[in-house]
Amino acid sequence: MKIAFYATKPYDRTWFEPLAKEYGFDIHFIELPCNEQTVFLAKGYDAICIFVNDMVNAKMIDELYNMNVKAILLRSAGFNHVDIKAAEGKITVLRVPSYSPEAVAEYAVGLLMSINRCIHKAYYRTRDFNMNINGFMGMDLHHKTAGVIGTGKIGQAVIRILEGFGMDILAYDPYPIEGLPVEYVSLETLFKQSDVITLHCPLTKDTKHIINKKNIKLMKDGVYLVNTSRGALINSEDLIDGLVSGKFGGVGLDVYDEEEGIFYEDRSMDIVEDEVLTRLMTFPNVLITSHMGFFTKEAMEAIAVATLENAYALENGLPLQNKVV
Ligand code: NAD
Repeated sequence: MKIAFYATKPYDRTWFEPLAKEYGFDIHFIELPCNEQTVFLAKGYDAICIFVNDMVNAKMIDELYNMNVKAILLRSAGFNHVDIKAAEGKITVLRVPSYSPEAVAEYAVGLLMSINRCIHKAYYRTRDFNMNINGFMGMDLHHKTAGVIGTGKIGQAVIRILEGFGMDILAYDPYPIEGLPVEYVSLETLFKQSDVITLHCPLTKDTKHIINKKNIKLMKDGVYLVNTSRGALINSEDLIDGLVSGKFGGVGLDVYDEEEGIFYEDRSMDIVEDEVLTRLMTFPNVLITSHMGFFTKEAMEAIAVATLENAYALENGLPLQNKVV
């Protein structure tokens, strides 16, 4: 199988190159993202392999289909960046449903710890030999209430960690799981009663802007919000209004609605035009990272193995367990 591998970073080569040899796949690594301008590069390949900020819309699906590309191999669990409906009957879309839920869960809790105790700020102060701790006061998490939205694989890993901190855990999920150490409540109750809210649901039409003006109003003053799922779960402009009003103790974001073209790139010498993102960066209690919750050795290895196993299954007519439907 010949695979056009978009949005390649050095760490992708490290994990995919040796494995591709083992499987006998011919991978062509392309640094450019996959979009309307670059989709033509897939000509002559059997599959494209893409990451979270490579958008594949209906028009591109048709182009890929006409180029005889048979599969889209996602190096991610989320698939909101591909027009799945348009792909139906034309191109097989395969994803990596689970690689290391712990990687993302541990990172989400890391963000929470940082925004609560200002560790990221303290790092800069002490480097300057400014040992003043004014403004860094956080709260004990022990005996506080955490609200977990989405109790799938990552949500459950987060719950295990927060339980260890001695937190009371509320959860919301349309498909509750029995036996978790949580109390399932309505979204409204979760917003009203949580000291910490962490998002672990996928981006769908139901969850888009689940954090909005109305729901922010319901939240406790001083609430901590963490989003390691997808940027569009939050209405960023409403979040800014909430931050300006002083609603939030802290906000940790590993994802952002308009991250495509910015995250994973070095834009340090550019004039960034996104005024919402630049405004978010100005708040002292907001910590933004570049969609790196997944980024551990274990997760990278698992992503490479699962992606190429998906390709192998397709090539050999085996059952496609990770087909997105
Ligand atoms: P999962 O499919 O195991 O769990 C998702 C859960 O969300 C399910 O239990 C589902 O019932 C629930 N859900 C669906 N609709 C909901 C709604 N309207 N409200 C509340 N819950 C709802 O997925 P997962 O592996 O736990 O991943 C969760 C999300 O994390 C992914 O969709 C992806 O967007 C994100 N993610 C981020 C990173 C990162 O690097 N930051 C890495 C991997 C995944």
